[in-house]
Order: sequence, then structure tokens, then C-alpha cells
Amino acid sequence: MAGKMEDIVSLCKRRGFIWQGSDVYGGMAGTWDFGPLGVALKRRIMSTWWNYWVEGRDDMYGVDAAIIMNPKTWEASGHTATFADPLVECNECHGRFRADKLVEGANESISTEEFKARNAKCPTCGKVNWSDIRKFNMMFQTHVGPVDDDSSIAYLRPETAQGIFTNYKNVVDTIYPDLPFGLAQQGKAFRNEISPRDFVLRDRECEQMEIEYFVNPADWKESFDALHDAYHKFLTEEMGLDADLIHDFEVAPEDRAHYSKHTIDIMFDYPNGQEELMGLAYRTDFDLMNIQKASNKSMEYIPKGGGERFVPHVIEPSIGVERLLLAVLSCAYREEEKDGKKRTILALPEHLAPYRFCVSPLLKNKPELVAKAREVYDLLRKKYGNVTWDDSGNIGKRYLKQDEIGTPKCVVVDFDSLEDDSVTIRDRDTTEQVRVKIAEL
Ligand SMILES: [Zn+2]
Repeated sequence: MAGKMEDIVSLCKRRGFIWQGSDVYGGMAGTWDFGPLGVALKRRIMSTWWNYWVEGRDDMYGVDAAIIMNPKTWEASGHTATFADPLVECNECHGRFRADKLVEGANESISTEEFKARNAKCPTCGKVNWSDIRKFNMMFQTHVGPVDDDSSIAYLRPETAQGIFTNYKNVVDTIYPDLPFGLAQQGKAFRNEISPRDFVLRDRECEQMEIEYFVNPADWKESFDALHDAYHKFLTEEMGLDADLIHDFEVAPEDRAHYSKHTIDIMFDYPNGQEELMGLAYRTDFDLMNIQKASNKSMEYIPKGGGERFVPHVIEPSIGVERLLLAVLSCAYREEEKDGKKRTILALPEHLAPYRFCVSPLLKNKPELVAKAREVYDLLRKKYGNVTWDDSGNIGKRYLKQDEIGTPKCVVVDFDSLEDDSVTIRDRDTTEQVRVKIAEL
């Protein structure tokens, strides 16, 4: 049986995966903190992504740009003018809401007339008395340096993509890669959501993993399709997502961003409904041309074999770490009943599990067992790194706890181990136990 959203949220909290941000002070809306197990899972997802897309390929390179960028970046990209949500205010209680979320079937471009005609009730006070819609820019604004006037305004980046585009020329000038090539970045992005909701799905601070893949405009389709296929492979084979829960949704021309010629949203069936997991967009030369215009620097690529120079076009696969992590958790979560006993399992792929092994002595009050188990623990930790130790409660309880946090194998040292240098390994998914020589672990 797969989990419901509240079961997953509850497990995340109980076992130290994810907590509300600033929990001790009553929380901070739209922010989440990762505990010891959550950060372990998150880092494994991010490093698996990096190995797969950057280190595992000849045509990809990494960058790591600053979060605070020259504000010209956001003028050139259009964010200053258009990165906004439709905001309405209730004239009775002054609650503020996203207009498109108050009426069914609406999107961000809803007009005041359309909105008012629907007579939506205020979710707070129940009255129907709305202000006109105004555009609310979602970038977090700050001031850089000690001067606190308009000249010092800067923004926390609303996406990592522009940190890639602005380094395109640096990369071409320094390492001159063959086209097509991709630049990848992982990092924080910030959006001042009017109403953060749905656990980590719509938060104000998130971690993105983006690739800008630069191509000759003549070959864009081939690269688009290849990245699309590779991403499906990545999601199912590397992240352990169930292929039946992943759906491609081709975005209609009238719903696409104006610069995009082809966009596929990859949707995922989360426990509480279908949501966007990631996007794959053909952005044409929109970004590089904007930068060329705003910076007065050429963004042209000089083909190595000769021929005319041109500004490359771009395919962008973009995914949020938290969205991916929640998809991974919802595929891994299950509840099982066997012989009248209930257990919760996080059947995470072995390479994503916070701990690969849990090592225990059968009894904690037998020094010779504890010493032998420590030996095994040190050995495995040296080899794998993420190994945990548990000598609390009885062995059955330890298993249940490790099942719930996704540890694939529990290693138990018993009295026989002292004689035959073997241990019992118990499998999380099947609960089967096998005897293995310590030297073969
Ligand atoms: Zn109200």
C-alpha cells in the first residue's frame, strides 16, 4: 500500500527528515529544514544527479554562480517586469491571496473582470468584496552594501538558470567546448510565493538543478529528444520513480512562455494529486540575445570546423530538488502487514538511502559482542561511509526503525560470529536473513 501525503509528512517529521523552518519559533511559512536523515537523502539525490549529468558525460560542465547577481540580470531576463503572480486583497479583512487559486480552472493571467465575475468567497472571512488584481513580483529584494536607497537594490535569484547564461561566455572563452554542450548548476533559488503550500512543493526557498544545453539551432530537436529520453531514464533508474506515475504533458503554444518554442512538463502523481515534477523547455536564443543586448558583448559561437558564427539556442531541463525528493519518498513509502504485524518501509534505492547499513550487537550487555560489532561497524564505515550503529531496544524494534528510515541492510553480530567470523544480514524489503562472512561484506 502506498502512502498518503500526511503519512509521509508525519514520517519526515518523526524521523528527522524534514521539519518546518524555524520550528522552535513557531515556524516560518514556506521554508523547510532538513534534519540528519533528510539532508543525507537530499545530498545523495543531488550527488547522483551531478554524477549522472555532469561527471558521467563528455558534453556537460558545471558552474556555481553567486546567489546575488547584478540586478541587470533580472532586467535583461524579464524577471523585473514579469515574474509576478496575480494578487487580490479582501476589502473586508485585508487578507491577500493569489487570484488564480481562488477560482477553479484559472491561470496566472486571469483578469480582474474574469475574477470578480466568479464571486469567489474570501477563504478567511467568507465575504465577497475584492480589490482589483495587481501584479505582485515574487523576487525577494534586498540592499547590497551600507547604502539603503534604490541604487543598492538587489535580489535573491529566483532561478539558477541566469547564473548559467551569464557564464556562457566565460566558459566558451576559457575551455571552448564543442557544440552541443551543457552547463549545469545546483543551488538555492528564492520565490516570494503569496501562499506557500503543499509541504515542500510550493516553498519560498528551494534548491534547483538546472542544465542549459547549448545547440546549433538546426539541431535543436535531436538534442531535445535525447535529453528528454535521458531524463526519463534518470528518474526511473537512478531515482527509483515508478514509470507509471510519470506523465509527459506537452504545453500548448498559448500556455508556453513567449520565448519557448516547445515545452514538455513532466508531471508526477504525488499522493495528493498530480503536480509538475520538472520542465523541459526549448528556450531558443532568448536568454543569450537578451544578455548580448544588455551587456554589449557578443554571445556568438565560432564553429570549430569553420563556417558562420551564430548565437546558440538552448534546451533547458529544470528540476527542483524538494519536488524530486518528495517523489522519491512517495514511491519508496509503503505500509505492510504480515502475520498480524504492521511495518512501515521506505524502500529507497540503496544508493539514495541515508544509511546503507545498520550494525548491531545482538545484545548490548555482552562486551565481547559489542567489541566484535564495533569492528564490523568500523570496517563498513571505512568502506561505505554512511553506516549507522544501533544497540537500543530489542532486535525486532531496531529492524522496524531501520525499515522506516530506509536502511537496506541490518547487520547483526551474535555469539556464532565470535566463532565463525560471520554475521546475519537482514534485508529491509524481504525481511529475509542470510549468513555472510565478515570478509565478504
Ligand atoms: Zn476576507
